[in-house]
Amino acid sequence: MIQGTGIRSHELFERAKQVTPGGVHSPVRAFRAVGGEPFFVESARGPRLRDVDGREYVDYVGSWGPAILGHAHPEIVEAVRKAAERGMSYGTPHEGEVVLASKICRAIPSVEKVRFCSSGTEATMSCVRLARGATQRKKIIKFAGCYHGHSDALLVAAGSGPLTLGRPDSAGVTPGAVQDTLILPFHDREAVRACLEKYGEDLAAILLEPIPANVGLILPEDGYLQFLREETKKCGALLIFDEVMTGFRLGLGGVQERVGIRPDLTAFGKVIGGGMPVGAFGGRKEIMDHLAPDGPVYQAGTLSGHPLAMAAGIVQLEVLERGGVYERLEATGQRVEKLVRDQLEESGQNYPWARVGSMFCLFFRESGERVRNLADAQACDRKAYATFFHALLQEGVYFPPSQFESCFLSAAHGEREMEITQRALRSALHRKA
Ligand SMILES: *Cc1c(COP(=O)(O)O)cnc(C)c1O
Repeated sequence: MIQGTGIRSHELFERAKQVTPGGVHSPVRAFRAVGGEPFFVESARGPRLRDVDGREYVDYVGSWGPAILGHAHPEIVEAVRKAAERGMSYGTPHEGEVVLASKICRAIPSVEKVRFCSSGTEATMSCVRLARGATQRKKIIKFAGCYHGHSDALLVAAGSGPLTLGRPDSAGVTPGAVQDTLILPFHDREAVRACLEKYGEDLAAILLEPIPANVGLILPEDGYLQFLREETKKCGALLIFDEVMTGFRLGLGGVQERVGIRPDLTAFGKVIGGGMPVGAFGGRKEIMDHLAPDGPVYQAGTLSGHPLAMAAGIVQLEVLERGGVYERLEATGQRVEKLVRDQLEESGQNYPWARVGSMFCLFFRESGERVRNLADAQACDRKAYATFFHALLQEGVYFPPSQFESCFLSAAHGEREMEITQRALRSALHRKA
């Protein structure tokens, strides 16, 4: 089946499969959850993707989060070009690192010091190591459906790609690697209390996406994050917010600013790199100073603080700091929300919808009930999502190729994109699965 795929994309995918497992370099890109074959992108500009077959799509994936200003933002492109002329990478300190680190520390009160790496995976993995090193405890709590990248200890009951492929746990991860990872259902306070009762004294950290967005999109109920903050404090464990997706996407201060909580450590990625490969993690000085070379917790990276990535990230954050962008994203988010709700009403469907700022998800859950955790998300009708996805794609609108992902808006999405989206939604939601 080459549903919807053009000839050039199909040819490239055939070649890709010869030289790369599944033809892709990150599993969700393979369209397994929705069927058919991925299109190959030729270029991206603003809110649009163009594929090698000459078709254009309104992009609601945004490189899975980084493209908050849209693709190929002229100021970012110019900054990267200039940086490249000064050398691709040095492996020594340079000013860009100081500038971007200072911006992050200024925007996020809980972060006094920050260390750069090259991916969100590294950022969360390093947070866990640091938490264990700083507390001299072993156990960590993670929540089912939260995705924290693909490091061994965190690749259990993971959302996003593993969940999309129906294998939230990975082969090749040994029981030893995850024996200190405790998995709990999201939103279940009793489970947390019981777990702390048993393991509290050896608990290094509770790690979570404060707004889980790799299992569709789950909005935390009032008081739940505060509850986790209090419980960790009581038992002497650290609270780690994985804001790889939400950091600088839901405002300069991330989820922590929205809910008024100071986690002990925070992981970043995606938006802070302006589309370049970047991760970062930070927190209070006395915790961060456990890192080498000051402290005994080792962490390193040949390309960490990469000059091109720093240049792109600095400009992206500068544009965000100028103001107006988050207001625009909220307004566009409300527009899309209304488009979806209107179409649902017209077609007599009551699928639950979740949105926060520029992130949203439509769950194909027949009962219409809110999705609160992994089990709820898994109860969704994935075939209906696949039909919806392909119908949108045909109309030139690209949603994530999986029910278990959030959609992303950019500041470049405008009137024309809303019109195309409205037409596509009408067609996709009125076509019953
Ligand atoms: C994307 C993501 C990661 C992993 O980041 P990579 O850059 O893909 O390694 C970790 N945590 C969350 C919440 C993410 O959304």
